[in-house]
Amino acid sequence: MVKIYVLRYGHRPSRDKRITTHVALVARAFGAHGFILSNVNDDTVVNSLKKVEERWGGSLHVETGVNPYSYVKNWKRNHGVVVHLTMYGIHIDEIIDEIRNTDRDILVIVGAEKVPRFFYEEADYNVAIGHQPHSEVAALAIFLDRYYRGRELHLSFPNAKIIIEPSPKGKKVRVIGEKEKKERRTKIQTR
Ligand code: SAM
Repeated sequence: MVKIYVLRYGHRPSRDKRITTHVALVARAFGAHGFILSNVNDDTVVNSLKKVEERWGGSLHVETGVNPYSYVKNWKRNHGVVVHLTMYGIHIDEIIDEIRNTDRDILVIVGAEKVPRFFYEEADYNVAIGHQPHSEVAALAIFLDRYYRGRELHLSFPNAKIIIEPSPKGKKVRVIGEKEKKERRTKIQTR
């Protein structure tokens, strides 16, 4: 199975906590396997993600304070594919089938501040989610959704403690008992 890791470039702890947390939450909820926070450590982001995972399940691989230059070089050395999301790239509609057809792991880079030239050049694919400026959260969500063809929206995490009972009105959440947890572990289609 192809693994998808998300690398967040340029996180500024003073102003990006919320949006970087949302990048990590989208990575988890939309079927990525790893979240890499480059250059800095930020406990707020990691703790928010862990809190969500503790209740709703999932086990995203997380690394922080990582040098993004060597991480990308290393990813490619290990035969991984590098996708950089940028409005200047090739429109997703033109390239997503080719990306989906690779059987190599994928590193998806999203920026915060200006992304250096290095990443444009090292990327196997510079992919535009349309050619208008918007948001790293939206860009990542749409990339993963197109990659998984919407199946990720049915993801279920076997280690969840609570799950939602869909309801037309109001909020229904159910706590999962130990027996059900075991059954779910064997039954659930996670991707
Ligand atoms: N000003 C920054 C620059 O010039 O690189 C970009 C800031 S933008 C808010 C942050 C990130 O969102 C970008 O680095 C990119 O990853 C993502 N992004 C925004 N719009 C996008 C689009 N149309 N297609 C793909 N990614 C996009």
